[in-house]
Parts: sequence; C-alpha cells; structure tokens
Amino acid sequence: MVIIGGGPAGNQAATLAARLGAEVTLIERDIVGGAAHLWDCVPSKAMIATGEALTFLGRATRMGLTEPSASLDLVALRDRIVRIEDRLEHSTTGLLQSQGVRLIAGTGRLTGPHSVVADTADGPVELEADVVVLSTGSRPRIPAWAPVDGERVLTTRDAYPPQALPEHLVVIGSGVTGVEFVHMFTSLGSQVTLIVSRQQVLPQKDPEVAAALEDDFLSRGVRLLKGARAEAIEVGDDGLVVRCDDGRSVEGSHALLAIGSIPNSEGIGLDAAGVEVDPGGYVVVNHNLQSSIPHIYVGGDLSGKLPLSSVASMQGRKIAEHAMGLHQRPHRHLDYEKAASAIFTEPEIADVGLAEADAFAEGRKIRVTKVPFSSSAKALINDDPRGFVKLVSDPATGVVLGGSIVGKHAAELISVIALAVTARLNVTDIVESLLVHPALSEALAEAAE
Ligand SMILES: Cc1cc2nc3c(=O)[nH]c(=O)nc-3n(C[C@H](O)[C@H](O)[C@H](O)COP(=O)(O)OP(=O)(O)OC[C@H]3O[C@@H](n4cnc5c(N)ncnc54)[C@H](O)[C@@H]3O)c2cc1C
Repeated sequence: MVIIGGGPAGNQAATLAARLGAEVTLIERDIVGGAAHLWDCVPSKAMIATGEALTFLGRATRMGLTEPSASLDLVALRDRIVRIEDRLEHSTTGLLQSQGVRLIAGTGRLTGPHSVVADTADGPVELEADVVVLSTGSRPRIPAWAPVDGERVLTTRDAYPPQALPEHLVVIGSGVTGVEFVHMFTSLGSQVTLIVSRQQVLPQKDPEVAAALEDDFLSRGVRLLKGARAEAIEVGDDGLVVRCDDGRSVEGSHALLAIGSIPNSEGIGLDAAGVEVDPGGYVVVNHNLQSSIPHIYVGGDLSGKLPLSSVASMQGRKIAEHAMGLHQRPHRHLDYEKAASAIFTEPEIADVGLAEADAFAEGRKIRVTKVPFSSSAKALINDDPRGFVKLVSDPATGVVLGGSIVGKHAAELISVIALAVTARLNVTDIVESLLVHPALSEALAEAAE
C-alpha cells in the first residue's frame, strides 16, 4: 500500500493496514499528522485555550481569588503551539515506525494506476503498489477579490498566532471556522467584526444553538454584520476596508478569510491513473471510499465528505479494513449522519445525529427534551451555568436519535449521546447509568428522563 498524505486519514490507514499485514509506504511533504496538526485543529484549539485562560483570569474574583494579572505574550504562545505540534508529530511518527511503516519525506503523485513517484530532496523515488490511498487534504479557499498577504489579509493558516495581535479583526465567514476565530481573537483582546452572509451565524445549525452563540458574541462586544457578503478588500497604510455586496463596508486593522476550503487534488497524477473527480475537484468515491479505479482509495477532505479530522481518521481505518479484505466479515459502513462535531467557542457547542429542525422539516415525530445547565450543581461550581442539553429521541421506542449541547465541556459530553446514537441505545440506558455527582453529565441523564 502506498499512501500520499500523512494527515489523519493517511496515518490511520497506514497504521491499521500495517498492523493487518500490509507493506506500507507513506509519503508526506510537510509533517506527519498533516494539516490537522500543523494548521487546523491543533493550533486553533491551542490559541483558543490560551484565550480562555485569559478570560478565566478576568473572572477570577468570582471564584474567590484576588485579582490576578496576565497579558498576552505572542512569542510564548507561538512557542507553546510549536511544542504541542512537535510532541504530536513525534508520537504519530513513532507509532507509524513501530508498525513498520516506511516514511518518505517528499511530494507524491500517481504516474499510472499502480505506480507512484515521490519527489524527495535526494531525487525521485519510484514505487509500485497494489493499493494506493490518496489523502492529500484541502487548503483554505481564497477568492479572486481577496488580496491575501499573510500580514493584514489572512487565511486561517497565517493566524497561529499573527505577528501582531490585530487591533480590529474583520472575520469573513460565519461557519464553524469563522466563529471559532471570532471567539479566539475576542478572548485574546482584539475587537472583532463578523460578516455573516445570512441572518444567523452557523446557518447549518439548530437556531437555538446559534442564538446562544450570538448572545455571547454580542455580550463580548463583537459586531455582527448580517445579510452581507464581502466582495472586496482595500488595504491602506494603517488598515483596511472590507466592502460588501449591499453597499456596507467595515474598517479594520486586519481581515481573516474563513469561507471554506478547496481540495488538494492538482498535481497528484489523477489523470495519469484515470481517477474521476467531481466539478469541485473532489475525488468521486463509493461507500467503501474507492475511487473510479477500485484499488485507489481516497480518505479525508479530498473525498468531499464531512471535512472533520475525526471523520478522516475513521475513513482511514475503514480503507485499511476494506483493502485488507476485512469487509468480507460483518462490517459497518461509515454513517456520516452519526458523526459528532463540536465548535470550540464559549459556550462550547456540540451535536450529533438528528437535529430537531431537520426532524420537523421531514415531518418526523420526535420527542425533544431540554435541560438548562443553570440547574446543574457542577455548572454553578464552575461559575459557568450557560447553555443546555437537548436530547432527541423516538417517542415510540425511546431510541436516542440525536442531541445538541451548548455549554462548558460540550465537546466531551457529546460522546455519551454519540455512543447512544451509534449503538441505538434507549433513553432509559442513559437514565439508568449511575453517573458522577457533581458533574455536568447529570444534565444528560435528566434530559433522558
Ligand atoms: C481552522 C480549522 C480548524 C479545524 N479544526 C478541526 C477540529 O477542531 N476538529 C476536527 O475534527 N476537524 C477540524 N478541522 C478539519 C480538519 O482539519 C480536516 O478535516 C482534516 O485535517 C482532514 O484530514 P486529511 O487526512 O484529509 O488531511 P490533512 O490533515 O489536510 O493532511 C493532508 C496531508 O497531505 C499532505 N500532502 C498534500 N499533498 C501531498 C503530496 N502531493 N505529497 C505528499 N504529501 C501531501 C499535506 O502536507 C498534509 O500533511 C479544522 C479545519 C480548519 C481549517
């Protein structure tokens, strides 16, 4: 097996396939761990954690402490991010090597259906493969009107952290990435304006969840410009102006684009192998993640499915199982509708499975129960009683269909509902679990009553 791209999809496919007996070579041009570790999940959450530590210190007197003082040190923050990335790269590389995976530092491309070349510092390395896995990921989308320079006009990749903290950051795009960057920079001390193309941030999410986040943003002084699409950025000596399609404009010191990503599908030899791509450049795959050439599999963002690191990892494992013939045994296909996801804002947001709004749109009968954290002992102890747990179940059978959580540690708590949804557990299974007290998870049991 030859794998091009060592992000979560590539390295999980490599580890499991090697464990199952394959001879595996993994080609990576940057770092093993991929964009997920270098640019996306890890540095963004590390910056958010630092911002939250600052916010927490600001509230220290409410916890019975005297007023502490702390200020942001961008150099120390950059060092912290690099240290985390180094440790993760080291552990991921160690795991791959312990399974006997051959690592090649270079840029890979198909030269035919069964042949791959890795361009390395020492010249090209030619490889033959029975199975190829393409897991080259994606990168930020940059529209023609955005003069990205990495200094004032930034993509998410220029912001870990930026050379100077923006005085006034204009975030363009109010999906998951956009709102996380609003939270991050507001917590670190920047003034932030968010350009929202619709009338609600997080347009794909439960309106009640989005409203909780908007309330938090407004209470922290974030300006929301709704119903506007950015279409030009003019950079001056001291700042910039973002112009929108409805004639409005916003002045700021910096702008950050968070308007989606595009697949890394150019230059990897898809034509040479006859692999089909869709109009957006994503590789067309079947439910086994096989491309139009069955022994060429695709995992992660390049597959055009759900762009999450957790999903990419699971796809990598499913590819290894399928390629090694385990699909001939009872085997569960990946069900993207059961993927849990989280948004690392404050309050944190997480959801999984069927959403209340989608059930109503489909005319499906559901039972929805909602419990606010304001009645949770642990939330009061934490001095953070914001948010709620919402559980969606089948009124006839009690089977848990989905849920959303807004509040502290939502990304951790959602795993209980995710397990219930995947294993088709009943609400009584949650109610009858003897949970910890005092703990935020008590609200889950209450919602399941
Ligand atoms: C700002 C941001 C924050 C995010 N936060 C989260 C989060 O908190 N949780 C979450 O689940 N998801 C998050 N995501 C999404 C997540 O990062 C992606 O879904 C995930 O990284 C996709 O993994 P992948 O395996 O497709 O590859 P990637 O992680 O994109 O890695 C692909 C790898 O392939 C390498 N590569 C590309 N072309 C070649 C080539 N020709 N030869 C050799 N190597 C090559 C690249 O160098 C890279 O290392 C975030 C995304 C963004 C933009």
